[in-house]
Amino acid sequence: MTRSQRQSDVVVIGGGLAGLSAAADLAGAGLTVTLLEARPWLGGATCSFARRGLTIDNGQHAFMRCCRAYQDLLRRLGSLDSCAMQDRFELAVLGPRDQLIVRRSALPAPLHLTGALAGYRLLSPAQRARAAAAAAALRFSSHAGRRADDVSLGDWLAAHGQDDMSRRLLWDLLSVTALGITSDHADRALVAGAATRALFTGRASADIGVPAVPLSKLHGAPAATLLNQLGVRLRLGTKAAGVRVAARGGYDVRLDRYAPAAGELETAGGAPVLDARAALTGGPEIIHAAGVVLAVPAWAAVPLAPAELAPDAERWQQLKPSPVLSLHVIYASQVTELPFAAAVGSPVRWVMDKTRPAGLHTGQYLAASVPAAEKYLDWPVSRLGAELLPELERLFPAAADTDVEDFFVTRERRAVIRQVPGSQPLRGSQPAGLPGLALAGAWTDTGWPDTMEGAVRSGHLAALKVAGELSSELASEVASEVASEVAEPPGPLALPPAPTGTALRGVVVRPPAGLARAGAHDFPGPE
Ligand SMILES: Cc1cc2nc3c(=O)[nH]c(=O)nc-3n(C[C@H](O)[C@H](O)[C@H](O)COP(=O)(O)OP(=O)(O)OC[C@H]3O[C@@H](n4cnc5c(N)ncnc54)[C@H](O)[C@@H]3O)c2cc1C
Repeated sequence: MTRSQRQSDVVVIGGGLAGLSAAADLAGAGLTVTLLEARPWLGGATCSFARRGLTIDNGQHAFMRCCRAYQDLLRRLGSLDSCAMQDRFELAVLGPRDQLIVRRSALPAPLHLTGALAGYRLLSPAQRARAAAAAAALRFSSHAGRRADDVSLGDWLAAHGQDDMSRRLLWDLLSVTALGITSDHADRALVAGAATRALFTGRASADIGVPAVPLSKLHGAPAATLLNQLGVRLRLGTKAAGVRVAARGGYDVRLDRYAPAAGELETAGGAPVLDARAALTGGPEIIHAAGVVLAVPAWAAVPLAPAELAPDAERWQQLKPSPVLSLHVIYASQVTELPFAAAVGSPVRWVMDKTRPAGLHTGQYLAASVPAAEKYLDWPVSRLGAELLPELERLFPAAADTDVEDFFVTRERRAVIRQVPGSQPLRGSQPAGLPGLALAGAWTDTGWPDTMEGAVRSGHLAALKVAGELSSELASEVASEVASEVAEPPGPLALPPAPTGTALRGVVVRPPAGLARAGAHDFPGPE
């Protein structure tokens, strides 16, 4: 089949960080790409909505300097400068009775954190000494070549002399940050790998970056610009219903429709940027393509996958989601000078000052996240406020002396996969025997936890597979373009330079009608 007979060389299904990374790679190398995204915006699990004049993120997102593929994507989108990146790792840790600042030194890794551990006064000196020994053993275990086992980090730590208090006040900080679950439940090998990258290799690896603008401006809007410039056909508000191996070769992608309600899309300056409505009118019900990248979450990939992948899909189906509840509090006056902080021994794990990114001019807006929030997920907002606002007052005593001007929550019921022992073999691997078909998504087997970095890496890997398997001279072009990006250290990943050009007009999106209730926003995904 010639290219002109195809409707598209490649269809990418899903416009999260994985899908847009894959689409950019493939289009950048000259392939004709159509990207289908069920929602009316790009960015997937990283999105924003408007509320009372502010731009609110669905959940707070941070990254570390070791997340190089993600930072390269930001550079390519022209939005790396819209993040605040630490010069040197420093983290306020709010404990049950004490607070401290953890800093790295200028010593080479892993010695750069020995002072921080020695001064971690939430634990006794004896507990700190035992923690140092366990950290060395964990680092060694990550080099032992075992990528998955049935041991939770908690059990492993207990066997390495870590008592309950050490696990709660130190190790949960690492585990929740890396995987979004406490050490008692976390997959040991995955935490060990993440800790090795962030803490034990390179003294700057754990430096923290946070967005200084809403996520929609950091990812979704600039991605739409980039993909438009690369000639990608963006089909927003268009849901794929199934992928089938076509008898004539290639794949047929069957479309469904996800219709945004009136007023769901708002564009600054009056000019529509993400023209979902245009995508909703007309267009084929089936798109034929030589290649397909399935870049949707695991639970959405199961019904989409071609029949040939049924055994794989049965495994993906066993992956469980882990929810994140985000508390959004607008205080009448400033309650903390910290830009962000981590809490231990509390259901609230991370708190971020979102005042400026959201566009608040008086008072302070704190976003606090409660990962692995099964317990709280269906509580009404009033009950969540009664239980968790006092917790924020405990963490930030000045909050008790000021008024709460607004309090609302966002619930991501399927924020990430639950990365428990035994979950790693269930993650998606690239399908063999189906040339031109690839999986992408932070849930796939990238060796990284379900994170933005994992999503971007998975997109590059998917593009590499699809391009490599399409019989075209373009394959070698795209292969050389992305091969370096998916390689592990050494050296920063080299993505093609970001095209210069028009800046995108600001886009403000609202969650789909029916999902927004007074004070609560659910992001269950389009399925
Ligand atoms: C509240 C929260 C906080 C987080 N915090 C962090 C953090 O601090 N740091 C970090 O690194 N990571 C964090 N993560 C995880 C990170 O956001 C995800 O790992 C990453 O964004 C996933 O990207 P993805 O492209 O794999 O999937 P997604 O972003 O889920 O994208 C998949 C896309 O596919 C679309 N889709 C689904 N079905 C269909 C269909 N049938 N047809 C067309 N489109 C479809 C969806 O609408 C979606 O846009 C957080 C996640 C959440 C929810």
